[in-house]
Amino acid sequence: MEIKFEKRPVLKEKPQGPLGFGKYYTDYMFVTDYDEDQGGFHDARIIPFGPIEMDPASMVLHYAQETFEGLKAYKTDDGRILLFRPERNAARFANSNDRMSMPKVPEDMFVEAIEELVKIEKDWIPENEGESLYIRPYMFATEAQVGVHPAKSYKFMIILSPVGAYYPEGVNPIKIWVEDEYVRAAPGGTGFTKCGGNYAGSLKAQEKAEEQGYTQVLWLDGVNKKYVEEVGSMNVMFLIDGKIYTAPIEGTVLPGVTRDSMLNLLRDWGYEVHEEHLAIDDLMAAAKDGRLQEAFGTGTAAVISPIGELCYKGEKATINNFETGPLTQKLYDTLTGIQWGKLEDPFGWTREVVIEEA
Ligand SMILES: *Cc1c(COP(=O)(O)O)cnc(C)c1O
Repeated sequence: MEIKFEKRPVLKEKPQGPLGFGKYYTDYMFVTDYDEDQGGFHDARIIPFGPIEMDPASMVLHYAQETFEGLKAYKTDDGRILLFRPERNAARFANSNDRMSMPKVPEDMFVEAIEELVKIEKDWIPENEGESLYIRPYMFATEAQVGVHPAKSYKFMIILSPVGAYYPEGVNPIKIWVEDEYVRAAPGGTGFTKCGGNYAGSLKAQEKAEEQGYTQVLWLDGVNKKYVEEVGSMNVMFLIDGKIYTAPIEGTVLPGVTRDSMLNLLRDWGYEVHEEHLAIDDLMAAAKDGRLQEAFGTGTAAVISPIGELCYKGEKATINNFETGPLTQKLYDTLTGIQWGKLEDPFGWTREVVIEEA
């Protein structure tokens, strides 16, 4: 892929102090257009970060053909730049696009675009403990037509945001609201995709949880509201009687890269892993009689979020005395150790972005 580079006259000031999450954006962004009648993707370019012009009839604004991804670039102590399993994000993006009747971005093009943008923005990768450069690829329908059909033109873009440690004071348990009214996904729906609409539809339950003093929502299956699926924008795992339980990937749950990585680690450490439907009633019972030892959400942003309390239909259960459990901590330390190049990478998960000397 040929990528045109348009330099900006003046670079931005790098932020000082806490970075937070998604507060700052870098100097440049990647953009490429897709037009069916021009043979597909064309005009790949890295241009100054800034507003884009859109036709008010752009189909994404009306029918929400939009998909996205999320991954990070990490700077190691010896100054190397690492990505974590980007080919997994590329494959998932292609699956999301396919479900939304959008053209797939070829997987090598997806990874190349990320690498080229990260190379240009290497000085934006923060270096303090736990900090990284969040990478947000996304694609949306730009065809100007108020009529429901798959659009014939799209933009595929990538923006970058330097982000802080998700837990500046270390990994801390959160309180989770088990949602029994609203649902996130149903069989045959779009639950396995990262499409914007999934998140718009989840906000109502999130607001409800926050009103009750809870940080995130635990979603139940959309048909029976009986089986545990995932937490907000994280997959969720439970350690019950020494065994790991997590929802299977069957179309309603997002196939998380963090989830897959942790399941690999857990199996490697000898844990019995059950990817199966776990009833919320059984989970609450296990919490009540102390068999639920640890519970945690997994995702790129936070890596791991220990769950200290569950509230389901007014019934509350505290997990592990509202403390981060030893397995949760070990998973966090191991995965972040591999991601930041501090630990050996036996699975070959990291991919170095090599900067050629000019
Ligand atoms: C992104 C996301 C996850 C986590 O996926 P990772 O690849 O681990 O970051 C889980 N659930 C939902 C709904 C998500 O959007």
